Amino acid sequence: MHKDIVISGGGIAGLTAAVSFGEAGFEVLCLDPTAPVTDRTNHGADLRTTAYLQPAQAFLQTIGLWPLLADRSAPLQIMRIVDAAGEALIRKDFNAADISDAPFGWNLGNWDMREGLLTRLDALPNVDFQPGVSTTDSQTRSTEARVTLSSHQRVSCKLLIAADGRDSPIRHAAKIRTQHTDFGQLALSFAVSHKGPHENISTEVHKSGGPFTLVPLPDFNGKPSSAVVWMDRVNAIKEMQSLHTEAFNAAITERSAGVLGQLELITARSAWPIISQLSDQFCAERTAFIAEAAHVVPPIGAQGLNLSLGDIEVLLDLAKAAPAQIGEADMLKRYHQARRPIAQSRVIGVGALNRASKAEGPIAARARALGLDAIHRITPLRHQLMQLGLGIR
Ligand SMILES: Cc1cc2nc3c(=O)[nH]c(=O)nc-3n(C[C@H](O)[C@H](O)[C@H](O)COP(=O)(O)OP(=O)(O)OC[C@H]3O[C@@H](n4cnc5c(N)ncnc54)[C@H](O)[C@@H]3O)c2cc1C
Repeated sequence: MHKDIVISGGGIAGLTAAVSFGEAGFEVLCLDPTAPVTDRTNHGADLRTTAYLQPAQAFLQTIGLWPLLADRSAPLQIMRIVDAAGEALIRKDFNAADISDAPFGWNLGNWDMREGLLTRLDALPNVDFQPGVSTTDSQTRSTEARVTLSSHQRVSCKLLIAADGRDSPIRHAAKIRTQHTDFGQLALSFAVSHKGPHENISTEVHKSGGPFTLVPLPDFNGKPSSAVVWMDRVNAIKEMQSLHTEAFNAAITERSAGVLGQLELITARSAWPIISQLSDQFCAERTAFIAEAAHVVPPIGAQGLNLSLGDIEVLLDLAKAAPAQIGEADMLKRYHQARRPIAQSRVIGVGALNRASKAEGPIAARARALGLDAIHRITPLRHQLMQLGLGIR
């Protein structure tokens, strides 16, 4: 079998790449050992949500995906940072209206995103998505990549895209090294309902151990709802995971400093290790590394998947500009040069924010409060950081 492009990995990044290159007319094969779970109550569902920031939403619009998703998303108009470390709560609001006519982004369940992606793939006959099949080996030469599948089939292609996650087997096989930091924290991800509306405000509450972030979701069973990412030390999160629902509800209401009143858990809880990771190379012979196969950042400021969609957009632009040359060394070098510095700056920036957020003690708390106050008070600095956070500077 021969294809223009083989994509190893059908997570959100791999499936989005499959839609993007399929939409552009390339013959694509996408593989993943597991089938996407599109119902959040089903076993194995990815319970995280993703805030698609303005550039990512614009990209999803151009590949025909956003119209399938818009109704299931909640806009993020205000980012509120609450410092709850002292006696009085300090609140600082960052309003998207200061820098743009549109919200900062739109928050959407990963399960809904997967459903939208599968619906879009159904309409693309030139994309073959095979859930239940993995890549087991790849050999490359200057003219093509040859990929072996768990179904024992062999496929040759001009470009192999590795979207096979943070432990990317393709990256390991290519002997590409990564810089890896383990922050000794977990992120607990779940959704809650609450009585009062969230008013499209995403609230990050800082106390100790790491941020507790409430991100707006559309109403659930007629009640206002938010997604939560709670970052803390490994033992603290494990303890929270083991609490029965009533005690957990009390703990999260307390940890949220009551900003949305009483919180009630409406999903299971899943824990994710907090690491940052950056691949030394974003390409190898006939191979491009995208998304978590290339970079991982802690879940602060909604950067990870947004960065990954940027990888796909750049790779797609290069492919569309010279379709006959896809996978050639020059194209891949340009992809590496365009994306690695951006990913590196996010890995450094988000890592620094995480260190500042998890630092304990009165001096660290005071430094955080002063820094937040300065950022909020100095208008050009505030605007610059908001644009930087969106990835539009
Ligand atoms: C708590 C939390 C909240 C987050 N919130 C946000 C947010 O608001 N905004 C944002 O931008 N990002 C966010 N992120 C980051 C985002 O969720 C991840 O970047 C994204 O889900 C990773 O997707 P991926 O497709 O790169 O990797 P994965 O989802 O890991 O997909 C990799 C796929 O490769 C497959 N695979 C592995 N081996 C093989 C093989 N041999 N052959 C074929 N397939 C293979 C796996 O089965 C898997 O399906 C968050 C992360 C966390 C932990």
